[in-house]
Amino acid sequence: MSSIQQNLNKIKSSLPEQVTLVAVSKTKPNADLMEAYNAGQRIFGENYVQELVEKHDQLPNDIEWHFIGHLQSRKAKLIAPFVSLIHGVDSLKLLQEINKQAAKNNRVIDCLLQVHIADEETKFGLDEKELEEILKQFLDSARSDNNEFKNVRIVGLMGMATFTEDQNQVKKEFQYLKSLFDKFKRHFDSAQCDNIKLNTLSMGMSGDYELAISCGSTMVRIGSSIFGSRN
Ligand SMILES: *Cc1c(COP(=O)(O)O)cnc(C)c1O
Repeated sequence: MSSIQQNLNKIKSSLPEQVTLVAVSKTKPNADLMEAYNAGQRIFGENYVQELVEKHDQLPNDIEWHFIGHLQSRKAKLIAPFVSLIHGVDSLKLLQEINKQAAKNNRVIDCLLQVHIADEETKFGLDEKELEEILKQFLDSARSDNNEFKNVRIVGLMGMATFTEDQNQVKKEFQYLKSLFDKFKRHFDSAQCDNIKLNTLSMGMSGDYELAISCGSTMVRIGSSIFGSRN
């Protein structure tokens, strides 16, 4: 068994049943992805549109591709034919563009709204007010006669904690995201809108996924602990 397969099996056996593993394969060659594939992994996450498109074209078609980077509106059309989940959506404008491209492909594309939880300026994402505003406008549209968002479904939230050794801080950030998730899930579940089903909380990477799971994560995005460090 290769080291990638050993890493993967070790991580998989440690995950609770309800937690989905996204194998983050950005910058890694197809051969590495195939090692994971041959060990049973079917969900892969990529950050760069061009790289994702190439890997999708070259690798087996039963792979579920997640886009986990920051998507520029003008590139949505390149992944719309096949992407199964877009993690980092942080504006209505981007949702509109994803919807447009999804409609052209006769698909409904699942999306996660990215929340800014880190104590760093550089990370993308919404604050609580912006999140609430987007969900409200989305719901208003879905309930109106001309739903602008028929071809997208908001299925949960995504966040990245601060890059720090301070486990207490990381824990607080994950707990905060979980509290938002619970609050908005309660609120929007009762709205019974087919295009908002908050069931996925994507948080946790190689360095912090165990903590994220203990705070309620349902989906972890793990790269370097499976494939080794990146250049
Ligand atoms: C690269 C990346 C990951 C994986 O990071 P590792 O530390 O290698 O596990 C997870 N999520 C996002 C959004 C990333 O960009």
